[in-house]
Amino acid sequence: MMFDLAIKNGLVYRKGEFLNANLYIKNGKIAAISEEKLEASQEYDAYFKWVLPGFIDPHVHFHLTVANWTSVDDFYTGSVSAAFGGVTTFIDFIDPVSSIGELKKAFDRRISLARRSVVDYALHSTIANPKDPAERIAEKSKELGMSSIKLFTTYSSTGRRTFDAYIDDLLAISRSMGFVVVAHAENDEIIKRFEEKEVPPKDHSKARPTIAELSEVVKLAQMSVYREGQLYIVHVSSGFTAREVLERFSDALGYTLALESCPHYFYLNDLYFAKGNGRLFLMTPPLRSEEEVETLRENFDAVYTIGTDHCPFNKSEKLSGRFTKEIPQGIGGVEFSFVLMYTLFGEKVIDKFTENVAKAYGLYPKKGTLEIGSDADVVIFDPDVEWVIKGHHSASDYNVYEGFEVRGKVVSTISRGEFVVKDGEFVGKEGHGEYLERKEIHW
Ligand SMILES: [Zn+2]
Repeated sequence: MMFDLAIKNGLVYRKGEFLNANLYIKNGKIAAISEEKLEASQEYDAYFKWVLPGFIDPHVHFHLTVANWTSVDDFYTGSVSAAFGGVTTFIDFIDPVSSIGELKKAFDRRISLARRSVVDYALHSTIANPKDPAERIAEKSKELGMSSIKLFTTYSSTGRRTFDAYIDDLLAISRSMGFVVVAHAENDEIIKRFEEKEVPPKDHSKARPTIAELSEVVKLAQMSVYREGQLYIVHVSSGFTAREVLERFSDALGYTLALESCPHYFYLNDLYFAKGNGRLFLMTPPLRSEEEVETLRENFDAVYTIGTDHCPFNKSEKLSGRFTKEIPQGIGGVEFSFVLMYTLFGEKVIDKFTENVAKAYGLYPKKGTLEIGSDADVVIFDPDVEWVIKGHHSASDYNVYEGFEVRGKVVSTISRGEFVVKDGEFVGKEGHGEYLERKEIHW
């Protein structure tokens, strides 16, 4: 057999080990992994660099419109930036809906924007206090390939909060129906006190205190354990939350509960908000104390996946308001997620960007692994090079990680057998990305 592409002389990552082997691709799939030299129409010499499964970012917000703002990366620029970071699949969200009738429309709107993506993508369903029964919302979401349903436990003031009784309904049927309940977990009562107030950026973390996250996560975790549900908590911000979960719910992790965290909570502390340009860093949940950042690093085992919550704006938009409610929330980061986390933790981050995400969200083994028959989504990664982050490919005019020293570099990114980034150059195609329909998910 003649293969389409041979990636020669790499260290191929499979099940926690590195094999000194060649990887062969045919028709967009991984077709062979062998020490032998086989024939291929195109060859790429990886020269002892790592050959990893393409990364999956389960949490991005491209072209997200909230209030008066739209995040500046659309699905083209966002996906290009992602590809430079080794991301070959991302999961975005539909706008929150409160009835079944709105689901298809919200889905179609996002799909029509997402078509421009240069890499593959999936969508999370998103609800806001729906009146329709949980089973029907779940059925319709699954029908559209969105077997993960995101909800907010807060934002009652804008009608986005989904209440506990409904969350309990969802958790109770999540395993049998094969979907995942995805929760933005912050205690609404605690946060409401400050929501309408004029909070300067330096007080953002006090207005959304750790206890709001900690108490809500513990409650939801308990609810999921009780119902044997499938619960995924997004953007855990505090090490205190991660530590508490590890102490109380370690048996549930990976079965009834999965935690996601983001690179910024491992790198930045709440002192950034007090700086002169603190507004550029505003995101929700907020940055935490240095002690919490360190505790998060120490309790990294509680974290099953890394998502970026990538949602950047331009400087002028971030600097235009004085109080947090006048400033769009969110930062970029999809391009540097892996190298930032790799710099801190080394090779044990790989699964949290690949296999774990694919398993959590119904993409395994098509994505997240280098098995024969899996999609040929591959990252060529140089694990040793040390460099300083300078510039990026996002449409945003600033980057919170500018000047950060990191180790390891994404050299090339391959999506279904085609180079999107080759030796640091973009060679991808607008619209190459395909929508990934996700069927039943069983943890
Ligand atoms: Zn988000």
